[in-house]
Amino acid sequence: MNDILITGSSRGIGRATALYLANNGYNIVLHCSKNIERLEPLRDEIKKKGVNVRCLAFDVSDRTEAQTCLLNDIEKNGIYYGVVLNAGITSDNPFPAMEDSDWDKVIKTNLDGFYNVLKPLIMPMIQEKCGRIIVMSSISGQCGNRGQVNYSASKAGLIGAAKALSQEVAKRKITVNCIAPGLIETDMTKEIAPEAIKSVPMKRMGSGEEVASLVNYLLSKDAAYITGQVIGVNGGLYL
Ligand code: NDP
Repeated sequence: MNDILITGSSRGIGRATALYLANNGYNIVLHCSKNIERLEPLRDEIKKKGVNVRCLAFDVSDRTEAQTCLLNDIEKNGIYYGVVLNAGITSDNPFPAMEDSDWDKVIKTNLDGFYNVLKPLIMPMIQEKCGRIIVMSSISGQCGNRGQVNYSASKAGLIGAAKALSQEVAKRKITVNCIAPGLIETDMTKEIAPEAIKSVPMKRMGSGEEVASLVNYLLSKDAAYITGQVIGVNGGLYL
């Protein structure tokens, strides 16, 4: 039992995590929202590293689609050792200008995604009596960030959900932790203002690999007694 599902691994932090974990010998389950064939070049790159890799595509905000796809996959291939809940979106706007759709799509993807992905997986994980769940929150969920009332709410909600679940499953030797990245260089942050980078004490953005290395540690046996935590990867940034 060595398979790790990484939601949203077509790009950015999820992609970097898939490559990092494959280098460390884990079997990888790649995932994107749609058009599964987009994952093929990454799948082939990972395959060359000598680990098993397969691909899933479903919208994490669609409960039925997520459940059907995940149950089908674990029926064929067995339950995952680790789940990295990484898929997420922003739809920023100052609160007075925020549209209903900005609020709804961010909450449905980022927060409902936790429920939609983990609900079908949790009983099979509990039956294995070991496992790791890693949730990609954000510094915006810890501190709030202007223009991101929706996103901050979703990412703070994930912290509460992860802490509660960690208590429920601790006796089954499943750990549940959040990572709270600061500014990481990906598609999500390509429009970021240069002033934002100046506010980072380390004066640079982080890389996907710098987040991936923490995922790798949290998956390891060394991290077996760490649960219910929120760990920042943020170059010293505190919003
Ligand atoms: P990217 O925008 O680069 O990638 C997002 C990933 O999520 C893609 O693989 C995308 O798949 C997937 N995704 C988005 N919506 C859905 C959906 N509805 N269903 C399924 N998959 C979906 O983001 P990052 O790599 O920057 O961010 C990854 C995570 O880290 C997110 O949760 C983000 O909130 C968090 N984070 C990022 C920070 C940063 O500075 N970059 C800072 C703090 C937190 P597809 O290619 O199919 O669209």
